Formats: sequence, structure tokens, C-alpha cells
Amino acid sequence: EEWKDRGAAVGVRREVDADGRTVLKSVKKSVRDFNFGRILGEGSYSTVYLATDRQTLREYAVKVLEKRHIIKEKKIKYVNIEKNTLNRLTEHPGIVRLYYTFQDETSLYYVLDLCSGGELLGVLKKTGTFDVECTRFYGAQILDAIEYMHSRGVIHRDLKPENVLLDDQMHVKITDFGTAKQLPDPRDPTPAPPPDEGPSGSQDGKRAASFVGTAEYVSPELLTDKSAGKPCDLWAFGCIIYQLLAGRPPFKAASEYLTFQKIVNLEYEFPAGFPPAAKDLVERCLVLDPSRRLTVEHIKNHEFFDGQPFGRELWRMKAPRLRPYVPA
Ligand code: ATP
Repeated sequence: EEWKDRGAAVGVRREVDADGRTVLKSVKKSVRDFNFGRILGEGSYSTVYLATDRQTLREYAVKVLEKRHIIKEKKIKYVNIEKNTLNRLTEHPGIVRLYYTFQDETSLYYVLDLCSGGELLGVLKKTGTFDVECTRFYGAQILDAIEYMHSRGVIHRDLKPENVLLDDQMHVKITDFGTAKQLPDPRDPTPAPPPDEGPSGSQDGKRAASFVGTAEYVSPELLTDKSAGKPCDLWAFGCIIYQLLAGRPPFKAASEYLTFQKIVNLEYEFPAGFPPAAKDLVERCLVLDPSRRLTVEHIKNHEFFDGQPFGRELWRMKAPRLRPYVPA
């Protein structure tokens, strides 16, 4: 009952009924339609497999969640948030697409875009840092995806280089919408989803956003007011731009508590030789007051992105060769 699976039928099959008449039946994909291959990765609640659609031979990443484990850990809500959110974000190349969902007695299955380039964090760790060209390209793709999700009423709330996956072209695909928040979608005539209760399960809207996300990228307003709107994703964006060029996130300390202290005190420094235009951009994203932080539109017009295409053209670009930043 808890696993409401209203996944759409994905095709029709001709069948001959008892009277010899041909009938069309809708068919839903199931585990049997895929050949499962190697494990791509493991999360706390899931195992992700490479899988091939037996009919089309198309490859996917299939995330398998064990029902028993999710119930035991009280994560049903997050699993549903992830599915509902992804079902709402199907028209952008920068977001991992959910193609099918199905279940059997033991598990839930999410059939997703395969991201064979792995996590942006892994790629960054190999080169140490990114040069300005790479930072601009990956920054632009992440920003374009944020703009799209915000336009569909979705706040990610846990953006970080681990949640930015790369496809076979080394283009961005944002993932991990388990802690996302859905605002009423202006384009959606159906009633808004119920208010987000937050991980503590509190019923009151204010505590909605009790701490979610990852310490290093969490916005100050989430720590002080327990509120998080669209600007919290742009705070995380500022942290990511800093990290790509510096090789480490701006706020990092020995414990979560100390990291939070640094965030609310805006305690961070730029390494020597940090590119000036990027420094200006980061400083305008890492603004404590969310209402004074740059918006997506401002960032697209910032000099750091001078000459950078967004939209369709951006996703047709060839990814730049990965090179570390070398201060002049
Ligand atoms: P946790 O739940 O502990 O936060 P997680 O969010 O990384 O972990 P998953 O999203 O299930 O958990 O991902 C598990 C692993 O599988 C990760 O290492 C991730 O890089 C990899 N992975 C997830 N989705 C894909 C995908 N679409 N293509 C390729 N690899 C993927």
C-alpha cells in the first residue's frame, strides 16, 4: 500500500483472447525486461546496477531499493519524494531522467539515465582542480539545470559535486532528489503537494527544512531560520564554483558543528591567485542574507560567464578537456 506505484504503462502488446479476438494490452516494464550487469555504486539505501533493456539494448542505471531496509530506516517518505520529483523533471538534459519504476516483493526499481562518467567529485579529485574554462562549462551546466528545476518548482537542497553525475559525453546530470522540496508548480493545475514536513517529521511548515543536506554546502538560512527557498541552491552553487577552482569546499572543519559555525560566520578564504571574476561571483553567491544573494539570472549575466551560451547551445557543446587551474 505504501508503495503507490502509478508508473505509466509503457507500451502495448497484441494478445489473442479466449474468443480468438486480437486485443491490445498495455504492458509495464518489469525486472524481467532488463539484463542486470555490474554494480555501478552503492548508497546507504540502494544498489545501482548497469542494466540493459532486452528489447532495445539500451543501457540504463537501475537503482534497487530493498523495501525491508527502507521501512526499517523510516525512509519511505524520501523514496517517494525522489520518485515524485524526478517524475516532474523530465525535459532537461542536465537532470537524471527516471524512465520507469516498478517493484517486486522485495525491492523497488528506478530505471535511470546511465551516467558512465561517474561523479563530478571523482573527476575533480583526479585533476585536483579545474581551470577557468572547465569551471565555466561545468558551472554553466549546473546553473542551467538549477534554473530548470526551479522553474518546475523544485528546490534540490543537497547540491554538491557527489550529486552531479556525468554522462558518456562528460555532460552534467544532477541526481539525488531524495531531500528535494516541491513548491507548487505554476504550470501544474493540480493541487500543490502536501507541505514538506522535514526529516524530523514535524508537522509545522517552519521546521519544514530542519537540517537536510550535507554540512559543507548547507546554506546559513537553513541553520539559523530553518528556512530554505531557491536561494539555498545558489549558495551551494557558489560553494561548488569555489571548490572546482580551489580543489576543496570553502567551509570545511573537523566536525559538522564547526563547519556550521564557519558558515553562519561567513568564515572562508580564497587561495592566492584565485581568478578575480570567479572570486567576485563566489562572493556574491556566498551572501548570508538569501534575499541579497545572486539569482540564476544575475549569475548568467555575471562577467565570469561572459560569452558562455546557456540553454540548447550549452548542451550541444563538447565538454572541455579537463585541466587543473594554474594561477598566473
Ligand atoms: P546515499 O544514499 O548514501 O547518500 P547515494 O545518494 O550516492 O548514497 P545512490 O544515489 O543510490 O546513493 O547512488 C549510489 C552510487 O551509484 C553512487 O556512487 C552513484 O555515483 C552511483 N550512481 C547513482 N546513480 C547513477 C547513475 N544514474 N549512473 C551511474 N551511476 C550512478
